[in-house]
Amino acid sequence: MQVVFDSGVRSYFTCPRDIEGNELESELSPHSIGTMNSAPDSLIETILERMRAGGGRITKKRVRIVEALTQFEHPASADEIRQRAGLLETDLVTVYRNLEALQSIGVIQRIPLENGTQLFELTAPGEHYHHLICRECHQAERLDLCVGKEVLGRAKAHGYSQITHVMEVYGVCKDCDNHS
Ligand SMILES: [Zn+2]
Ligand SMILES: [Zn+2]
Repeated sequence: MQVVFDSGVRSYFTCPRDIEGNELESELSPHSIGTMNSAPDSLIETILERMRAGGGRITKKRVRIVEALTQFEHPASADEIRQRAGLLETDLVTVYRNLEALQSIGVIQRIPLENGTQLFELTAPGEHYHHLICRECHQAERLDLCVGKEVLGRAKAHGYSQITHVMEVYGVCKDCDNHS
């Protein structure tokens, strides 16, 4: 099934959180581009700079993918990103590999869906978001909360370090509920 998001502008403002759930003030935060139609070149340049600093290669494809990612108002699937980036001749495996490279340097966050596929959105190093995801239309929006502190405390009590967490919430959105 093709994942399609409503292109209508929606409120997409939530505060970025660090891994402990503390609210972050970040000038680079992609949450500030939520309602922009086109991202400033400076944001794209900053992301490419981070890739260089992280030892990542800057290829034409990666630049196109980063540009495409700045244009979404919602988390997008690899296929949507491929289309937006104009990389239709590029196979999805290659797109995934590039998205993974971007994730490994903290430029994007991967959002797992219940069906095993995933969505992607821009983030900044040290930030993460939780989402509310409709299991019918796959629309995803950010939830302004984080369970970080409690999770961190419990995991530390088990003797763990380098702790991260993932929490996504699934349900049926109002639109889909009305149609059934
Ligand atoms: Zn829905
Ligand atoms: Zn969290």
